[in-house]
Amino acid sequence: MGLCFTCHWTRVVTSRRGSTFFRCGRAEVDARFVRYPQLPKLACDGYEERSDT
Ligand code: SF4
Repeated sequence: MGLCFTCHWTRVVTSRRGSTFFRCGRAEVDARFVRYPQLPKLACDGYEERSDT
């Protein structure tokens, strides 16, 4: 998962079947980002460290 693992913008989505997906929340407010980025993300201009990590 790389940078997304500790990023403030990471959203975790769980499907009805119980599968877990990762989504980039930044994609909803900024067109430069894709909703489902290819992982692991090793560099990202939108990265912001989560304050709880
Ligand atoms: S902004 Fe970048 S590092 Fe953060 S969740 Fe989105 S793709 Fe991952």
